Amino acid sequence: MLLTEPKFESPLQGSRQQLAKVIDIMGLGQSMYNRLAHPDRIVTVHSPVRMDDGSIRVFAGYRVQHNNALGPYKGGLRFHHHAEMDEFTALAMLMTWKCALVGLPFGGAKGGITVDPRELSVGELERLTRRFTSDLIPIIDPKKDIPAPDVNTGPREMAWIMDTFSVNKGYAVPGIVTGKPICVGGSLGRSEATGRGVTIILEETLRHFGKKISGTKVAIQGFGNVGGVTANLLYQMGAKVVAVSDWRGGIANPEGLNIADVMLHYKEHATLGNYQHAEQVSNADLLIMPCDVLIPAALESVITPENADRIKAEIIIEAANAPTTPAGEAILEKRGITVVPDILANAGGVVVSYFEWVQGMSQLFWSEEEVNDRLRRILTRSFAQVAQKVEREQLSFRMAAYSVGVGAVAEATRVRGLYP
Ligand code: NAD
Repeated sequence: MLLTEPKFESPLQGSRQQLAKVIDIMGLGQSMYNRLAHPDRIVTVHSPVRMDDGSIRVFAGYRVQHNNALGPYKGGLRFHHHAEMDEFTALAMLMTWKCALVGLPFGGAKGGITVDPRELSVGELERLTRRFTSDLIPIIDPKKDIPAPDVNTGPREMAWIMDTFSVNKGYAVPGIVTGKPICVGGSLGRSEATGRGVTIILEETLRHFGKKISGTKVAIQGFGNVGGVTANLLYQMGAKVVAVSDWRGGIANPEGLNIADVMLHYKEHATLGNYQHAEQVSNADLLIMPCDVLIPAALESVITPENADRIKAEIIIEAANAPTTPAGEAILEKRGITVVPDILANAGGVVVSYFEWVQGMSQLFWSEEEVNDRLRRILTRSFAQVAQKVEREQLSFRMAAYSVGVGAVAEATRVRGLYP
């Protein structure tokens, strides 16, 4: 082993452990590890906001720009009460490998605000988003760093960011964010892209093992943009979605849930609780329930040594970023459970974000069919590249995906050299 193993597993330590492992496998050396293990830039802002009662609160916000060897920094903005800098740094690193793995001309970034958005009114949230954007203006730009949606942010927040940036520039700048509403330059297919990508990668994984989606039992943690779309598409494709959940808990039915009906219920009641045709299940129990495929699609570090030995699924598709800790994964690996890593499984979002950016820069817009076709082509090609490495080099899916992604970034870093 080239590097000493960190003693504990924060998401950042986990990301660095995985980087160290792949650097070791590829023989890239300590100097390359040193360059790639640290972000280029971390900006912390403290954004003051006038609350509805007239008082002023100050919110901490961050933007971590990890690496731009291949192109502008790209990555989501998350509004969450537990979000902090180390987590954003880990997620920014993942974005760098993810963009490189699927061949996009982007580097990695991540950021957001430490806030529970449920505690704010819409007006307060808008003022916070706009002030945070204005505080980031020195470091974001369509050619520098392009934010996107993540946990608790979506098209509404992206429109506020686009408007704030544009007002400050004096002209409309659609390329400043992706995941915007269609009417201000968003791409058709972007809102479903991450979930659609998860289903494409699941299809390819099952095909790799000689299996089919129809009848496959799938449990999904998280029912937001990624988990909700994934559940709906898999249901339409004939999979048995045996459980879904949100932050309050979930519902399960071993015969498969009627996801169309669950979606209607969720839209009407904004909760999965009191849904009639299913049992209630906690988020902890959902992860260890009987199923063929487990899809964590909520937050990071949910699969750990605490539960890895009780997971029943044969395949885990990481729709969330970093849901499995390295120690949890070591147990899964010993048990022969396949983990398809986040940087491949959820790359559909950034692929269509790239399409949105290209369309915004060229002012030429594509049909939804064209977006979905191009997405499928990129993801199936990337899956094949990773699967070939799994077979030929006897690597796990994570190490195979990392060696493609990290390898491309390391090569660009080597060729570009070191300034000065
Ligand atoms: P979202 O805010 O739309 O949904 C998050 C879901 O997780 C919600 O259903 C929420 O109730 C649930 N949740 C929150 N806390 C939870 C907890 N403690 N236990 C169980 N469930 C909980 O966010 P999203 O955009 O769907 O993102 C989900 C994951 O996918 C994140 O890891 C994100 O980084 C990743 N991701 C998102 C995109 C994208 O395009 N939105 C792209 C790539 C990766």
